[in-house]
Amino acid sequence: MAPPGTRNWEAPEKTEACTLPAILPEDNTVPILTLSRLASLAFCLLALVSNAVIAAPPKKLVLMAGKPSHPPRMHEFNAGVQLLAGCLDITPGLETTYLLNGWPDDDAVLREADAIVFYMDGLNRHEIVQQGRSRLDLIDELADRGVGLGFMHFAVEVAPDQAGRELTKWIGGHYEAMFSCNPIWEPEFKSFPVHPITRGVHPFTIKDEWYFNMRFIDGLSGNSQAAVAGLTFTPILVATPSDDVRDGSYVHPKGPYPHIVEQSGRPEAMMWAVERPSGGRGFGFTGGHFHDNWGNDDFRKVVLNACLWAAEVEVPAEGVASTLSPTALDANLDPKKKR
Ligand SMILES: [Zn+2]
Repeated sequence: MAPPGTRNWEAPEKTEACTLPAILPEDNTVPILTLSRLASLAFCLLALVSNAVIAAPPKKLVLMAGKPSHPPRMHEFNAGVQLLAGCLDITPGLETTYLLNGWPDDDAVLREADAIVFYMDGLNRHEIVQQGRSRLDLIDELADRGVGLGFMHFAVEVAPDQAGRELTKWIGGHYEAMFSCNPIWEPEFKSFPVHPITRGVHPFTIKDEWYFNMRFIDGLSGNSQAAVAGLTFTPILVATPSDDVRDGSYVHPKGPYPHIVEQSGRPEAMMWAVERPSGGRGFGFTGGHFHDNWGNDDFRKVVLNACLWAAEVEVPAEGVASTLSPTALDANLDPKKKR
């Protein structure tokens, strides 16, 4: 017989669902929890937490394509984001949306995003510098909330006095005209740092309009890991341009620029990743001129991995696996007149 004011618990009836035991018995007396009862409670709490993790909403990735600009199979932003979105379609925990031909009519899709990747023309054609400062201010607000941001190819170029400060804050640097250069060349990416973005990526070489010598934060060369004012910087794709590449010609203006030539032998970053002091992630990727390069498994994988990483989705141990159908590279190309 239990003393007054206490009550021995009996084993609860077994039910299909894991239910938490009532804290107080019906007569409102204080219960004594037996060890087995405590274990049951702990198990149920664990199960609830696990369910909460499993039921967590997917992270939202937005891939924004710019408007058509170049000849066929170059700067195919609309086709590119659809191809990448197709590769990410089956990624657990990720919901990918692509936007075609620039900024959406309704900002809501951006405000709800966990990461936004911009693949578009830059400078005065950059979607983020249209409409005064309103778009810059919105993305800056999202960056401060920890939203991941990626910029690919021409989208890494902004006029310094227009959005240089913003890109430096968001992704650690940007292409600056007459400081950076844009030759078409074939870097050899021979080794990679240990980083989620490089998982499953094998050495590769591929011809592209690989910009280099970005205007990086705090004068960084960009070819080694660094921490600046709370921002961590990790080069992802690094290769050494030959002197012939440095000597030009570049796509525009043709160069060569003496300061590029003088850095003979220096490795250069063509892709990099940052973690911002506010907690958000960012990356820059300077390739992406030729649409057909998306057919290279390693070229494609390093970008797909970066998209997951920016959205804070765990990158699989072997990276994002994807295969393209034989017609994938011909799909969704913009109607362009051959020049
Ligand atoms: Zn280009």
